[in-house]
Amino acid sequence: MNHLQISDLTVAYRVGGHTVPAVRGVDLTVPAGGKLGVAGESGCGKSTVALAVLRLLPANATVTGRVLLDGEDVLTMRWGRLRAVRWAGASIVFQGAMHSLNAVHRVGDQITEPILLHGKGAITPAVAERRAGDLLEQVGLPAHQAAAYPHELSGGQRQRVMIAMALACEPRLIIADEPTTALDVMIQAQILRLIDGLVTEHGIALMMISHDLSVLADTCDRLAVMYAGRVVEEGPARTVFATAVHPYAAALGAAFPTVGDPAARRAPRGLAGDPPDPAQLEGGCSFCPRCPRAVAECARVDPALRPAGPDRAAACILVPPGGPSPRSLRASAA
Ligand code: ATP
Ligand code: MG
Repeated sequence: MNHLQISDLTVAYRVGGHTVPAVRGVDLTVPAGGKLGVAGESGCGKSTVALAVLRLLPANATVTGRVLLDGEDVLTMRWGRLRAVRWAGASIVFQGAMHSLNAVHRVGDQITEPILLHGKGAITPAVAERRAGDLLEQVGLPAHQAAAYPHELSGGQRQRVMIAMALACEPRLIIADEPTTALDVMIQAQILRLIDGLVTEHGIALMMISHDLSVLADTCDRLAVMYAGRVVEEGPARTVFATAVHPYAAALGAAFPTVGDPAARRAPRGLAGDPPDPAQLEGGCSFCPRCPRAVAECARVDPALRPAGPDRAAACILVPPGGPSPRSLRASAA
């Protein structure tokens, strides 16, 4: 059974007198214990999808579609149920832990809070404290750090505390939204390995959001590439990274070195132009103005995500429904 099933999710933000269509008909699934990577340039709607999954969007957002967590629709469930689902059903690790942690509370208390809340009186403060200490050790911090305030910890240590909090109520899904962006490169790799190791060990499903396709291809089973509020390609992570069929996903993949094979590193190729302003989208394919392969029809037809081979999907009229031929794949990877 799919742990998370997002169907036809649409989110628009009202800003002044305008609406910004941030997410436009997104379908995504994460099976129980599966790992889905979501990639795409800044502003393509990745965080909006993450926030919608736990109904954490700001008040100026309008949402339609379905977000099923273990078969229950998060978008329509009652508040009491939603409180239970947050933390225990799914939890989020955001980027920039300094802003997500409360500066005036010791980190241990911030970890015990959801444990006590979800324990509904059945868990004593002493038990919750022991569990907080265990969690800190699981994320590679000594248990005595529970007494520290956030400002007494490094950025990497704070992010470890956030991961301990995310694990506190034994969720079945963790959403990691650019969990390492604010950290230096060495620490980034450690934190990603930590998340990957913990979700694998506990059988927790993972939705990992990043700009960095190579990291996602290394960590996740499946990869979805978003552009201008849409999923434009979805499939097995390494296949989408190495031989994407959608021209945008291919350009994004070409911008990163090949995973695990330094000898085969491709020269990073930048993608000219900027993503469209979501408030100014016109008809046709939203990638058309930047697409090296665009034909006249692309300016008229807004392509839906459709099968592009047995195990993947792409939103491009140039990709045949059966998937591309091996020859065209080799040409696009060259
Ligand atoms: P990044 O990689 O920079 O984190 P993202 O893919 O997470 O980007 P979102 O933060 O989901 O993108 O934003 C998608 C679109 O929605 C952008 O055009 C953004 O400007 C707009 N947006 C996001 N949050 C709000 C908000 N609270 N009010 C109005 N518009 C918003
Ligand atoms: Mg974001």
